[in-house]
Amino acid sequence: MILYKTTAEIETMRDTCLLVGKAHAAVAKQLKPGMTTMQVNDIVEQFILDNGGIPSFKNYHGFPAATCISMNEAVVHGFPGSHILKEGDIISLDIGIYKNGFHGDSAYTYAIGSISDEVKKLLKITKESLYAGIEKARQGNRIGDIAHAIQEHTEIKHGYGVVRELVGHGLGRDLHEDPQVPNYGKKGSGPKLKEGMVLAIEPMINMGVKEVVHLDDGWTILTKDGKPSAHFEHDVCITKGNPDILTSFEEIENAERANPNLTWSY
Ligand code: MG
Ligand code: MG
Repeated sequence: MILYKTTAEIETMRDTCLLVGKAHAAVAKQLKPGMTTMQVNDIVEQFILDNGGIPSFKNYHGFPAATCISMNEAVVHGFPGSHILKEGDIISLDIGIYKNGFHGDSAYTYAIGSISDEVKKLLKITKESLYAGIEKARQGNRIGDIAHAIQEHTEIKHGYGVVRELVGHGLGRDLHEDPQVPNYGKKGSGPKLKEGMVLAIEPMINMGVKEVVHLDDGWTILTKDGKPSAHFEHDVCITKGNPDILTSFEEIENAERANPNLTWSY
């Protein structure tokens, strides 16, 4: 069942969603080679707690950490540990915060040090595809219009693999609500978009094949061919007019530009 949000609920959600961007920015300022993924997680978790939030992912179906941290060929659902960041890595951070009765959920892929032009392109195209999808998030369109726009920009135009097993979702008082928001599909298919829907739109795009495999840690999902994968996610409210992006990358991008240990990903 799709739950439509009132204007007041949207404004409460916006505060939570904006806090997710601030949590990203807090860690983006500090990312550098030599850090462990656990240190990355701890910065995020502390920021969330200091700002009156609860990490949405911690203990979600038993997930072992506050942050999903997926390196290089890991697509999503990786978790932190003793792994050390090094020059040339890409690291996808997916952060969820529960505050004031609602969840915010936003992912961003960072490049540590300098990365190859091909990986830079993967990040750029994946981020562009997120905005291509958002552009279709308009009352009267359907989920398939968002899905198709993402697939068109990544798989059809650039030959990347769009993961089929993992999709975006509705968002609100629950972390995962209806409807599902795939990153592939047919124009004009699926549920109709209506004012008050909030969607987490999140292309998960592989440089190589679309197939994924599950690591035996029970969580991490990897590309089948071992090539890198990128992930960007915004929470978007459907309105009568333009799509309303509740999350923000502005502070993240400022932090990315200011941090000499990161490559600007667009
Ligand atoms: Mg997420
Ligand atoms: Mg999500």
